[in-house]
Amino acid sequence: MAELDPTTLTAATRLVTGGRPDRVPGGSVSPPLELSSTFIADGEVGYGRNGNRTWTAFEDTLGGLEGGRALAFASGMAAVAACVSLVPTGGTVVAPFHAYNGTGGILDLYEREQRLSVRRVDISDTDAVLSALDGADLLWTESPTNPMLEIADLPTLFARARSRDVVTVCDNTFATPLLQQPLDLGADVVVHSATKYISGHSDLLLGATVTRDDALHARLYEHRTLGGAVPGPMETWLALRGMRTLHLRLERACANAADLAGRLREHQAVARVRYPDMGAVVSIELTGGKEAAERVEHAVRVWTPATSLGGVESLIERRRRHPLEPSTVPEELVRLSVGVEDVEDLWRDLDDALSAG
Ligand SMILES: *Cc1c(COP(=O)(O)O)cnc(C)c1O
Repeated sequence: MAELDPTTLTAATRLVTGGRPDRVPGGSVSPPLELSSTFIADGEVGYGRNGNRTWTAFEDTLGGLEGGRALAFASGMAAVAACVSLVPTGGTVVAPFHAYNGTGGILDLYEREQRLSVRRVDISDTDAVLSALDGADLLWTESPTNPMLEIADLPTLFARARSRDVVTVCDNTFATPLLQQPLDLGADVVVHSATKYISGHSDLLLGATVTRDDALHARLYEHRTLGGAVPGPMETWLALRGMRTLHLRLERACANAADLAGRLREHQAVARVRYPDMGAVVSIELTGGKEAAERVEHAVRVWTPATSLGGVESLIERRRRHPLEPSTVPEELVRLSVGVEDVEDLWRDLDDALSAG
């Protein structure tokens, strides 16, 4: 019988069928969890820091969805750090003001250590980004940004960067490959915090890079192997199990987010709703300021006051509680990671909390 060609399948089917073991009578349907630090000599892998077949099952599935070769890392930040390692010493990075605060943090740190310099831009201002590209080594993009939910013109930015030999990275954590495939838009490398939507259950930390460029893949692989920021096999196994339902979770979460964004726009306690009509993160700015934002965080009962996003459960957080968060993020901004609960329960809880403020 002919092998199944995954490139003929839609994303939903790839999520369900990806990374399965070969079909042999009596074999397992789910990928085995391979817990071994070393492997019998003369095989493909050798040692557990170089590779692991449970990682590969996850990497093949994610890589297939993004249209490139994936590498799993110990966390999203480990994958971010691997991408930043592509910048030569003394090089220049163009990065959004409102990149994920850990990404902003590592760029700040390396800048203080004079390893590289950073030009910070409003990523939604295409002209400003383009004029910052001259002589740069790497363009970092996020769209939508976290937590301001600004949208970048990715195809234009990637095309111009490519013509100037600037390597481009796109953090696709918020959109997931189901809503946006940055490699098809012209990015060199996609980076993920698989901690979020990809795994989807707030029970592990994991990161990934994906690229079509063999030379970049080899450098990222070398950084992972020598830097040692490798994932545990259990994390990749759980992440792949979570990915099986990514399309279902995301569909419900996005529908809930769009519904809530519409209702929040009408709410008198809400001065501004930031929702880019994609994804399941909504940021709101409260008329009552920082104090009202803090009260709402504590008043909710269905929503959980916690950082992070992309899990089945809805999370709420005033972002400026983090010292690393840029001061251009309003004090009264509350980020909502909308989950897959019943939308009426989510609304009643949020409405009660907002109205009590
Ligand atoms: C959470 C997050 C990261 C960092 O990932 P970790 O898995 O927490 O290390 C990077 N980028 C974005 C957009 C994130 O939300």
